[in-house]
Amino acid sequence: MKMKNFTRRKFIVNTSAVTAGTLLSTRVPVFGASNKATVSGLALKGGTPVRTNGWLEWPVWDAEAEEPVLSVLRSGDWYRARGTKVDEFEKAYADFIGARRALATASGTTALETALHVLGVDAGDEVIVSPYTFIATYNVVLNQKALPVFADTDQETFTINPHKIEEKITEHTTAILPVHILGLPADMNRINAIARKHDLVVIEDACQAWLAEYEGKKCGTLGDLGCFSFQNSKHIPSGEGGAVTGNDDNIMDLCHSYHNCGRPYGKSRNEFTGYPFRGGNKRMMEYQAVILISQMKRAKKDADKRLENALYLDSKLKEIPGIITYKLADGADRSAYHLYPFRYKKDYFDGLPRDTFLKALSAEGIPCSGGYGPQYHDGLMEEALNSKGYQRLFSKQRLDAYREELKNLPDNDQLTREAVWLFQNMLLAEREDMDDIVNAIQKIYENRKQLI
Ligand SMILES: *Cc1c(COP(=O)(O)O)cnc(C)c1O
Repeated sequence: MKMKNFTRRKFIVNTSAVTAGTLLSTRVPVFGASNKATVSGLALKGGTPVRTNGWLEWPVWDAEAEEPVLSVLRSGDWYRARGTKVDEFEKAYADFIGARRALATASGTTALETALHVLGVDAGDEVIVSPYTFIATYNVVLNQKALPVFADTDQETFTINPHKIEEKITEHTTAILPVHILGLPADMNRINAIARKHDLVVIEDACQAWLAEYEGKKCGTLGDLGCFSFQNSKHIPSGEGGAVTGNDDNIMDLCHSYHNCGRPYGKSRNEFTGYPFRGGNKRMMEYQAVILISQMKRAKKDADKRLENALYLDSKLKEIPGIITYKLADGADRSAYHLYPFRYKKDYFDGLPRDTFLKALSAEGIPCSGGYGPQYHDGLMEEALNSKGYQRLFSKQRLDAYREELKNLPDNDQLTREAVWLFQNMLLAEREDMDDIVNAIQKIYENRKQLI
């Protein structure tokens, strides 16, 4: 496997090491007749896996990133007000995304909390949100003591179904929080039109969507504010970290104040002294910023590589019965591919359960996941709704109706049963590595009866 783009070559070591010759002999064409891997049987049943040489380990960094980190360490200027690196990163990230401003934060979660607070999402409000997302998107709404009102998911695009939003709007709705989940842009034209019509703000959860594009613009620049994460697993990682992006100076000044204990910032500095706003400490450290500055250098090339491999996978996987590749929402130009998703229709696999399919695929050397479950049934919502604050803020009638609404997300429920994810690091490999993925799925399809 060629990984020439990276100076650090760390691969997941596979216990069953085999020779290159064996590897080549197991690489078979899609729908190939003389399929040796097929002949050897499914790996889950003791046969030879399609792939044994692992995948790139994430994150990756290069030696050039080491000196700036040490230099921050030696300076003692670790906090943003004593250094220049966070400021430098903010400028660079704003350019990178095509936003007027960026504010660096401690995490994606704190970026979202900052955006919600500054755009006026308050206790007792309702926020329309996609149910198909990382749990942080639910949490930030709950942490504002607002109600996350889920609009069902469009199974084809994995994103919020814009046709399900308007019916969820009440007199308490203040914001729509679409998520560009897995890197797939949400249908922002329709979402923004609904927001304008009902006088709502739009906050994009772009925490998985660095360089994803919608009508020629980057995700995170399409709503009132965009929010990003730089957590360890993300495409531009620094362990923890986040950003709010926006084009309105007054709003961005308030975001800065909020993330810095409410100290006045920018234009607001001329009007106020002391601590005139509520706020908290949601600041990024100088170390994080120097890591991000170096990670950003590679991000565009990585994104292009993922796109190229994803388009190749699309073209091959859609030929396999029962594998439904994702669709981009209207207006979306490209995904960031934080995950590469497809839907698994078990009927085409003679009823083979998705969990068995996932186990079989993993056994073939292709790591995969079933993705998010129906998290609104995990207990979090009840815990919040039964808390003192929610009991005080919302009528019993509203909370009872809300509980019923949670039972009526059929498309999202189905998606959580059928989704399959492949991971972003796999898309940084070469085309022949993508063939391993295709061949493994094809092999399971051809041998499905062995697993039933
Ligand atoms: C990662 C992520 C977040 C939260 O980011 P953190 O940096 O982990 O706080 C929010 N939303 C989505 C969709 C994410 O993937």
